[in-house]
Amino acid sequence: MKFEIKLGAHMPISKGFDKVPEETVNIGGNAFQIFPHNARQWRAKLPDRKVVNLFKRNMKKYGIDYEAAFCHSGYLINLASPKEDVWKKSVDLLEMEVRICAALGIRYLNIHPGSHLGAGIDAGIELIAKGLDEVFKRTENLDVIILLENVAPKGSAIGFKYEQMKRIIDLTSYPDRLGVTYDTCHGFDAGYDIRTPEGVRNLLNEIDEMVGLGRLKMIHLNDSKFPLGAAKDRHEFIGFGHIGVDGFRNFFSFEEVRKVPWILETPGGNEEHAQDIKRVFEILEGVV
Ligand SMILES: [Zn+2]
Ligand SMILES: [Zn+2]
Repeated sequence: MKFEIKLGAHMPISKGFDKVPEETVNIGGNAFQIFPHNARQWRAKLPDRKVVNLFKRNMKKYGIDYEAAFCHSGYLINLASPKEDVWKKSVDLLEMEVRICAALGIRYLNIHPGSHLGAGIDAGIELIAKGLDEVFKRTENLDVIILLENVAPKGSAIGFKYEQMKRIIDLTSYPDRLGVTYDTCHGFDAGYDIRTPEGVRNLLNEIDEMVGLGRLKMIHLNDSKFPLGAAKDRHEFIGFGHIGVDGFRNFFSFEEVRKVPWILETPGGNEEHAQDIKRVFEILEGVV
């Protein structure tokens, strides 16, 4: 059981991209997610060749599959922004992020679709699709897939239902370059109850009907500090929140869930994530 699962955490890049594969193995993982640059800044640059070579060598050395390696877009990007300058800066930075992923050989870049800031969901969805098309057009020769992450239905955020993802994908000219992520905390915030078999079945059916299950490339594995539908977006350690040990045991029992890499975005750093990875295996093995 242990080796079928791709599991890891969001990892720091403060020591350099090249250190991430080793640190992943050190916390007991075989998958990871990283920011392609400082997530709170508009500035980003391509990694130098030396770092890229070391990174690729370490991916091999520590046995990490590129299908289990992900980048998460920076926090400032908002493709749904009705403010033209923010939208343009978002497109430019997302393009750079795609280029950083391509340089590292990372195939998947996860983004939050965007927030419409009062302009309405329909207007937001149109701007998101337009922004994605611009990025894809500028990076036509690069093999990088953008994953739309489901978000908590908080503020004016778009992308808390897969019907919204479908509309974005349908509007773009590059549907083959789009996939989706399922975040268990955000989903719980939006009312998806993965604690019951029917809840998981309904969720998987919805993803399949709207965008196709083949597009699901990553699961963000987070427990929730708040109850079902609370829309608070507060992540908790696995098994310690409202999804809980039994909830995750139920979720893990689905093959469609087990075959997608799981990335923890739970509180704390590497030490806490190592604990969470241990906890996930205990749940899988029925020890807890
Ligand atoms: Zn996210
Ligand atoms: Zn997430």
